[in-house]
Amino acid sequence: MTGGTVPSRDGIVAESLVTVAFAVQIVLTLGTLVVSAYLAYFGVTVFGSPNIATYAGALGVISLILLAVAYYRSYGPTREGNYLDAATPTLILGIIFCLLLVTLLIGVLYLFAYSRLADANAENQETPESLTRCLHCSAPLRPTDIICGRCGKSRWAADP
Ligand SMILES: [Zn+2]
Repeated sequence: MTGGTVPSRDGIVAESLVTVAFAVQIVLTLGTLVVSAYLAYFGVTVFGSPNIATYAGALGVISLILLAVAYYRSYGPTREGNYLDAATPTLILGIIFCLLLVTLLIGVLYLFAYSRLADANAENQETPESLTRCLHCSAPLRPTDIICGRCGKSRWAADP
């Protein structure tokens, strides 16, 4: 073990998987929004049913919420090397997307990413706490961080 000075291989693979899953999700979300807008428009004018418009709107909103969750809870933390925070949301996203056939690919990608995030976390636990957490505010730190991004103090120095 080199004590976390080198980004873990599992973390790198997890980041690739999350990035691909997120990219596919963006494409699918855009497609969903187009279909939703189409249904919302023609649901009223052609089918004469305001319900279709409501369902289409809800579908669009849900897909946008999932995109935001993926960005802030999975993709973002993973990019920052914060595998601990990214793991559970990534697992939940994987399960949700595996429920529907059209989103199965995204779900499987997130589940594979979760597996790698879990491995990366297990690897991090083998390194001393001082290498992965700020001494002052216990914010997660990347191995390359010298100054804590949350409290701005040096990761090594004790409180003055
Ligand atoms: Zn700190």
